Amino acid sequence: MTLALVDIPFEVRHHCWFCGEPCNLLFEYHAPTHARHPSLTIPACKECRDLAKFQPLTSIYECRTAVKDGLMRRYAKHLAIGLNWTKDELAQADFTCKTLQSFQRSAWFMYEVARDRINFAGWPLVLDGVPLAETLPDTRFNFDGISYSSVFAAIEHYGKVMALDKSFLSGIAAIVGKQRFGYAIRLARLHLVSDAATKRRVIRELLQDQSAAS
Ligand SMILES: [Zn+2]
Repeated sequence: MTLALVDIPFEVRHHCWFCGEPCNLLFEYHAPTHARHPSLTIPACKECRDLAKFQPLTSIYECRTAVKDGLMRRYAKHLAIGLNWTKDELAQADFTCKTLQSFQRSAWFMYEVARDRINFAGWPLVLDGVPLAETLPDTRFNFDGISYSSVFAAIEHYGKVMALDKSFLSGIAAIVGKQRFGYAIRLARLHLVSDAATKRRVIRELLQDQSAAS
C-alpha cells in the first residue's frame, strides 16, 4: 500500500523536501507507533532519500535533522570554502596551477549549493488539508550564514573543518553561550596548539569571569 502523499505547493513541485534540489523520487516515511503524526510520502532526491532510510528516528522532523547532519558531514569541504574565502577574494586570487584554477571556477558554486541544501527549510507538511503538528522543540542554530540543526552540529562542523579541539570548543561554547559562538571559535583557534593544562586554565578563567560578572 502506498502512503498518502503530502500536499506540495506549486512552486516547489519536483523539489526535495529535505534539501530543495530538483528531484523526481518519493520517500515513504513509515511513522513509528509513538510518532505524533501518520505515515506519509514526501518528494526527495536520491541522496536525501538514502540518508533518510537509515535514520527514521521518531518522527519525520527528527529524520530531517539526521539527513541535514549527514549532508553537512558529506559536504564539509564545500562548506569550508565559505569559511575560508569570500566570493571576491576567491575571484581575485591569482592561481597559477591548473588544478587550482578549476577549483577557483567551481568552488563558490559548490559552496552555495551545499549551503542552500543545508539551509532549505522545506515546506509545512499538510496531509489532505490537515497540517501536521511539528512537535519537536526547534534546536536550529544559525551562525555565519549557515543554519545548523543544533549547536552541537555547528561544533562538529567547525571542529572538523578548522581542526579544532571539539571538546575544548564545546566547553567554551557552554560557558559563553551560543550568542557568542564566534568568540568561542576565535578562542579555540587561538589555542590550536596549546596543551591540555593550558586549555583547562582557559576554561577555569572563563568560569571565573562568568561568576564575577553575575
Ligand atoms: Zn535532497
